[in-house]
Formats: sequence, C-alpha cells, structure tokens
Amino acid sequence: MRTCDVAIVGGGIAGLAAAWRAHQLGLSCVLFEAARVVGGKMRSERKDGYLIEHGPNSFLGSATALWRLVEDTGMAGQVLSARKPAWRYVYRDRQARRLPLDPVSLLGGDYLSASGKLRLLCEPLVPGGATSTDTAWQFAERRVGREAARYLMTPFVSGVYAGDVHQLGARDAFPKLWNWERAGGSATLGALLSPPESTDPEVADLPQRRGMFSFRDGLGALPQAIAGALPADCVRTGTPIAALEPRVDGWLLSPHPTLAVDKAAVLARHVVVALPNHPAADLLAPIAPQVSRALAQVQTVRVAVVHVGGPDPDAVAPRGFGVLIPPGEGQRALGILFPSSVFDDRAPAGHCLHTGFFGGACDPEAVDLPDDVLADLVVSARGSAFADAARLPNPTMVHVIRWRQAIPQYVVGHRARMATARHDLSAQWPNLALAGSHLDGVSVADSASSGARAVDALVTGQRAGEVHA
Ligand SMILES: Cc1cc2nc3c(=O)[nH]c(=O)nc-3n(C[C@H](O)[C@H](O)[C@H](O)COP(=O)(O)OP(=O)(O)OC[C@H]3O[C@@H](n4cnc5c(N)ncnc54)[C@H](O)[C@@H]3O)c2cc1C
Repeated sequence: MRTCDVAIVGGGIAGLAAAWRAHQLGLSCVLFEAARVVGGKMRSERKDGYLIEHGPNSFLGSATALWRLVEDTGMAGQVLSARKPAWRYVYRDRQARRLPLDPVSLLGGDYLSASGKLRLLCEPLVPGGATSTDTAWQFAERRVGREAARYLMTPFVSGVYAGDVHQLGARDAFPKLWNWERAGGSATLGALLSPPESTDPEVADLPQRRGMFSFRDGLGALPQAIAGALPADCVRTGTPIAALEPRVDGWLLSPHPTLAVDKAAVLARHVVVALPNHPAADLLAPIAPQVSRALAQVQTVRVAVVHVGGPDPDAVAPRGFGVLIPPGEGQRALGILFPSSVFDDRAPAGHCLHTGFFGGACDPEAVDLPDDVLADLVVSARGSAFADAARLPNPTMVHVIRWRQAIPQYVVGHRARMATARHDLSAQWPNLALAGSHLDGVSVADSASSGARAVDALVTGQRAGEVHA
C-alpha cells in the first residue's frame, strides 16, 4: 500500500495550496480530487472564442498567498491586470450609477442622494460600537446610514457572498471593516485607502499590488499550474474519497470503489480535508460527529453563473468592472460583470462577454430558471442599466453554470463556530485538519491560505524529518 506524509482530500484551490505547502516542506503527499480536473470552483474554459469562468473571475492584488503560488508555479508571465479605470456601478431607479473609487469622488456622482452622501461622509465621526453580533446591515446602517447601507453594503454582500445582509455577521463576513471600527477608525476610509496586506513574512519579498487580476487563460490556469508543478504521482483526479479510517500510524483513505479511477487506498500520516463544508461533514460524520454537525449547519447558497456573448459592432457595451443590483430594484440578477471590458482576450474581436449572477440567499429559485430565461434576464437588466447597451444585438453565445453549493454563508457567529470545530477536531485527531472556503474567508486567496495553514498546523512542533520517520 502507498504511504505518504500528508493526504489531501479535495483538489480546489484550498487543497492544491495545501499540497504545494506540503511539497515545499519536503513532505510526500497525495491529493485526491473527485472530479476529472482539479480546481473546483476555479475553472475556466474557452467556448466559441469566449473565456468562460465557472466560478471566480478575478482576485485582489492584496491576495499575497496567491501571489506566492503564482511565483512558485511559473505563472507570473500569465498574469493580467484589470484595465483602468475598472468602474463599478450600482443599479438604482432603472439606471447604473458609477461608484466612487477614492475618497475625493465620494462627493460626486449620483449613486446616493445629497443627504445620503453627507451621511456617508460623516461616517468617520460616528462613535464605535461594533459588537460581534452585529449583522452586516446593522453595522452598515449605524456607520453610513440607511441609504448607503442599501445601495453600497447590500449589493456588496450580494457580490461577495450572494448573501442576505440581514443574516451575515459584520465581524464574520467583513472582518476588516469591523476591525477598522473596533480600532477607532473609519470603515469607509479604511475600505478606500487601506494598503495591500503585508503582514505575512512568507510573502514579504513580493511586490505590493493594487487592483484586480486574472490570467491569460482565466483563473482556472492557476490550479492547473499547481497540479503540474507537483510531483507526477501526487495528484489523483477522478478519485472521490469515501471513507477516512484511523490507524495506529495515520489514516487509511479509501477511494469510492465504483467511481474511482485509481482505487488503491493510501495510508497517510496526516490528512487535510479540503472539501466544501457539506461533503466534509459527510466524511467526518463517523469519526468526529460533533465537528461534522457544525460543518453541516453552515448554510451554503445556490448560484447560477450566466455568460452571454455576442457582437458589439458599434462598441456600445458598457465599460468597467460590472454593475451590482440591490434587491427591490425590479431585477432578478444579483449583478453583471463585464469580463471583456476588464481583461484581454475574453471575447473575439468586435464582441463582448457579460456574466450575470442569480440565486443566492434571497432568490434561490432563480437558479432553476431555464437557460434562455436567465440569458434574457441578463440582457434586459443590462439594457435597463446602460441605455447604450440596449442597442447590442442579441447574444450568440449563452453558457450557464449552476452551483448547488456555491458559497458558504458567514452568518453571525460563523467564525467562532468554525474556530470551535477546528479546535475540537485537533483535540480529538491532532493529525487531521480542515481547509476550505467555509473557514477563513470565501475568496480564492483566503481559501488558498487556509490550505497552506492547515499543513503548517499539522506539522507544527514536528520537523519535516520527524514526519518522514
Ligand atoms: C460563482 C462564484 C463566483 C466567485 N467569484 C469569486 C471571485 O471573483 N474572486 C474570489 O476570490 N472568489 C470568488 N468565489 C469564491 C471562490 O471561488 C471559492 O470560495 C474557492 O474557489 C473555494 O475553493 P475550495 O478549494 O475551498 O473549494 P472548491 O473549489 O469547492 O474545491 C473543493 C473540491 O473538492 C472536491 N471534492 C468534493 N468531494 C470530494 C471527495 N469526496 N473526494 C475528493 N474530492 C472531493 C470537489 O470536486 C472540488 O474540486 C466565487 C465563487 C463562486 C461559486
């Protein structure tokens, strides 16, 4: 039977970052991925000259853990920066309204009424009062007033979590904003002015970057590059793990007997479970029932990702990053991104590609609408938001991806519950750790960090040589 230092269950970015970390530490590892390809939500494909992103579209310049992976796996030459200015819009009263990009432009524009802007500008004067039970709505309403909470915080919550602003915890979902207030500062100025993170000594040598980034062939290129840079026998795709059994000297990982490409079991000294919370709960149920219950209780939302592409002969497609649509504005789309405006080579010359998002916590039924209905909803929302875009010819390419468990919801108390679950798991099974988007943040970067940290936690106190012994 094959043995290894670390086995990783799940080949999304969290699992791949864990495998890379183990490899860096000189540990032997095997990564099991149920699907035929690695990447999980981070997957890109070309269709009719368009670049289709199944899940994430971009990552932030401050995503230092990702930049390390980019550098280490030779992807630096593939990086694309978002074109400037990457305008963002909010949809209000049947029109897209440009959002401010810096403190000076807070005063201009029509994204808020004059009184709404005045209230927003008073935010630094609002005394602190954050509690760990504040919802995102309570936090925003207190800091910036009702109007800005509705037109800034609510669509932001949709854009990141496809979530319900009245359910997500301010501290859980937006810890930076919460901490800025806690430290006596301004959440607004913090959000607009904060420098890229640079607290991780591992990445101190990397340049600090601002803005949004992707790769020439889409975000899915990074998981492929990581898998390609790992030792040849490390990654087993098409191999779902059905059971984890504790043994005296580690864990026996048994692939699902009917589905697995490679059915051979592996004995691993350490295991990282880098699965979404529901499959992780299933796998842990027999060995850590309490932790399993905590993971099963994390709500996840369904999301449909709807790509529409077509000719743009008069160059009337909207420019910028995209438009966020708050609930109650008469549209079902949560928002629409403009990938062909932001990054090179997302659509054939003279064509545009737009991506609408549907579903989430507030409108889960939208995910089940037929493809053509979803595409029509993107087109009508786009035409309503941008008068010029109403002149675009009908799309010639429609591609819909439906995620049944798209994004975990960081509702009030989520991080504390996950901390308890992690603590309980390591107390019972010190050689088993969790990683994934339900733990330290939902972004690609946070998911990757959770994978690397899981490996570090497993080997803490043990030198690599001891682990090999
Ligand atoms: C529509 C959408 C848009 C997003 N946009 C952005 C964005 O623009 N920027 C950003 O930073 N983040 C974005 N995110 C969030 C981010 O993409 C995810 O949170 C992150 O990619 C999750 O990575 P993960 O490795 O934790 O999980 P996953 O990517 O879900 O990977 C888990 C893997 O485990 C595998 N698996 C499941 N069961 C088993 C088993 N039994 N055995 C073996 N393998 C198994 C799955 O096949 C999967 O590959 C978006 C998410 C979605 C859904």
